[in-house]
Amino acid sequence: LIKLSKQEEAKEDHHSHAGRLYYTELADLFEKIEHESSRLTITSYMSNFFLHILKHSKPEKLVKVVYLCINRLGPDYEPDLELGLGETILIKAVSECYGRSSAKIKKDYHEVGDLGIVAQKSRIGQPTMFKPAKLDVDSVFNNLTKIAKATGKDSQAKKISLINKMLTACDSKTNEAKFIVRSLEGKLRIGLAEKTVLIALAQAFINWDKSIPKVTTEILAKAEDVIREAFSQIPNYEIIIMKAYEFGILNLLEHCHLTPGIPLKPMLAKPTKSVTEVMDRFQNEEFTCEYKYDGERAQVHVLSSGEVRIYSRNSEDMSQRYPDLVSITKDILKLQDGSQISSMILDCEAVAWDREQNKILPFQVLSTRKRKDVEEKDIKVHICLFAFDILYYNDAPLITKSLTERRKVLYDNFNSITGKFQFATHKDSNDLDEIQQFLDQSMKDSCEGLMIKMLNGVDSYYEPSKRSRNWLKLKKDYLSGVGDSLDLVVIGAYIGKGKRTGTYGGFLLASYNTDTGEYETTCKIGTGFSDEDLASLHAKLKPTEIDTPKPYYVYDTSNSNAQPDVWLEPTTVFEVLTADLSLSPIYKAAFQQYGKGISLRFPRFIRVRDDKGVEDATSSTDVSEFYERQANVG
Ligand code: ATP
Repeated sequence: LIKLSKQEEAKEDHHSHAGRLYYTELADLFEKIEHESSRLTITSYMSNFFLHILKHSKPEKLVKVVYLCINRLGPDYEPDLELGLGETILIKAVSECYGRSSAKIKKDYHEVGDLGIVAQKSRIGQPTMFKPAKLDVDSVFNNLTKIAKATGKDSQAKKISLINKMLTACDSKTNEAKFIVRSLEGKLRIGLAEKTVLIALAQAFINWDKSIPKVTTEILAKAEDVIREAFSQIPNYEIIIMKAYEFGILNLLEHCHLTPGIPLKPMLAKPTKSVTEVMDRFQNEEFTCEYKYDGERAQVHVLSSGEVRIYSRNSEDMSQRYPDLVSITKDILKLQDGSQISSMILDCEAVAWDREQNKILPFQVLSTRKRKDVEEKDIKVHICLFAFDILYYNDAPLITKSLTERRKVLYDNFNSITGKFQFATHKDSNDLDEIQQFLDQSMKDSCEGLMIKMLNGVDSYYEPSKRSRNWLKLKKDYLSGVGDSLDLVVIGAYIGKGKRTGTYGGFLLASYNTDTGEYETTCKIGTGFSDEDLASLHAKLKPTEIDTPKPYYVYDTSNSNAQPDVWLEPTTVFEVLTADLSLSPIYKAAFQQYGKGISLRFPRFIRVRDDKGVEDATSSTDVSEFYERQANVG
């Protein structure tokens, strides 16, 4: 958040005293939401709360409340703002703060399954000598931020002391302790989806706007579209809220658009299983086929200051990790055909490149690159950037231009440099045989297959953050299965036997339900792992073992076959292949939709997806879409 000076802070505190927002009010809101299943009702609870803040307090407070609601402390792309503290430190903190032994806290936790509730109960049992100052939203937000940012030798002690400070200030008659602990764990578990927060914000701002005499359904729908669009271009709540406050929500898009230095959520593609499926979808339309390179997505930003930043698919700043990409970008800028680039955003795939044989290397080679403290002179695995789109050029967003027009900007203003910066190879053809040949050629050229994209008109605009039907992916290896691999979260493991003694022998995987924030089991996997994979996964996951499944894991509690030997924190995503999907008596993906969950048959491990966070995993809705498509086709 924008920093205020000490003096300003004091002034603001003085002025806004009346508008002070106590944490207990927010905790009450969380409690209400937790016990409500109707999305509409949840949205109205939230929008009323937000409206109240707009009326009686300052927009800065709304920013903090929104972040606390989605359990974050700033935009995704800002580093070191992650909560998600481990159980051990939380148990220690709760035990120290409330004077109960760790063993007792642990035992309660096993029984109740929710550390938040254990903390709240412990708080009730604790006598208070004096009444601490009431917790307010600002102090909770600031303390959580300090905890997230604490690093170094004493960080554990520092964190525990900050947690203590907050827990001691919790009022035993309220549920504050429960939600503080859940926030610290990194999961509020109130079933609040982020999309609901955006809709609630739109409603609050529309109702607060005095220039709108009557709020109609149409106006509301417009406000929701506007805020969604603004957020997909600038995924930053602070900017959105401050601009909506200043200019009115309906004018938001004039003030919030693509900005170099703020990574937008990338456009994603829908899977397809065959060239004929592609032809059916794009009948009579003009489309293009591009090589689908197998590397890591890289959003290349050049800011008006000249600074270069590289962002991952996940909006993480990778500039430190890829200093060679920063240099390549500077080389591109130097190689202008007379034109001067003042700012830009390119969408590219960074691919490992063999400089001796001048060819693409497989993804496995790229993944051997060091992730931290990378010095350009030590780099052994070189990279070529394959640019497939341009989203911003010389102070102008291009996302509402057709792909044909965007391509022209790219080709007219940039020069390729073999082995460093190249344009994605493409073929604009409507001929089935030609496309089939191009697909085969892409494989020979070490690509994964093709991306097929609409070329002209509104349907070819760049749609940030959408998995769009206007982009299809055709992966050669997956044509015989469901058309694509799935990216699933590891939530448990099975102890290895025989040859696998000493490591895990298999894993329990889950899809992510974006509506409820829960992880729903989809399969057990034990195939596709090399001995090295198993050893490194054991080393990586062993420290994340937990005694009790997370309350937000959805699994068959009555069937021991559906449960792993050890539960794990949700930290890691596996890319897996499956023969097909089927309804299962024991797994739970998308179970609300079918009564039974969907599971993967014959799953096979491909790789760990380091570039995906657990919330970017294949969603339960995606799993059910895969299932439906398969049912249609089969
Ligand atoms: P998803 O989120 O769709 O599952 P993913 O990260 O698992 O994506 P894929 O499904 O394999 O990856 O396909 C999309 C990715 O392909 C893009 O995110 C991008 O990194 C990569 N890619 C390679 N070549 C292209 C191209 N020509 N156009 C668009 N994306 C490309």
